[in-house]
Amino acid sequence: MAVLKIVLASHNRHKLKEMDVLLRERLPVELEILSLDDVGMTEDIEENGNSFAENAMIKAQAAAASGYIGLADDSGLTVEALDGAPGIYSARYAGGHGDDEANNQKLLREMSGIGHRAAAYVCAMAMVFPDGSAPLTAEGRLEGEILHAPRGNGGFGYDPLFWIDSLGRTLAEVPMEEKNTISHRRRAIDGICRQLAEKLGL
Ligand code: IMP
Repeated sequence: MAVLKIVLASHNRHKLKEMDVLLRERLPVELEILSLDDVGMTEDIEENGNSFAENAMIKAQAAAASGYIGLADDSGLTVEALDGAPGIYSARYAGGHGDDEANNQKLLREMSGIGHRAAAYVCAMAMVFPDGSAPLTAEGRLEGEILHAPRGNGGFGYDPLFWIDSLGRTLAEVPMEEKNTISHRRRAIDGICRQLAEKLGL
């Protein structure tokens, strides 16, 4: 079979590497994984959707405009007692983009006095084909609870506040390799790869 070329709709090197590993583990074909930069798309894609799934689709469509298969994800934290916030605004909940410390402090403020602390990380993934055939979509979730104070130094984002009862730890106390076996991103990519393997008859 010819080489399968997939463009990942991200400029984030860490995410590109993680996705590259996961895709190669799951797809028994020769793969060429490209970034947006590799195909000359250096502009940021405007994520103006109203859900994780819409944003993932917008980014995957933009990547597929390269002429290759486009793959994108969009993820974040949803808290039940906050009607799903921070949701699609997870990265910039406290204002500045990617200020984890400020985001965590805002989350604790918003939840002060709230006893019901159920939350989930959600990852939506979309794969768009340049031939116009039906896109593939998948969602991965990881359920947990929001603590009253941070614990642990690993992970990123809201991980120090994200408690997983069955592990007896926060995600910031779980080694990265272990997180990658249970994460919302891992579950979403499993879903996409299963569907792609079926579509291609692998
Ligand atoms: P993105 O998918 O890289 O755009 O992630 C959006 C935001 O969601 C991040 O900036 C984090 O605040 C949050 N987030 C997504 N996945 C995780 C995770 O695995 N741990 C902690 N925070 C996450």
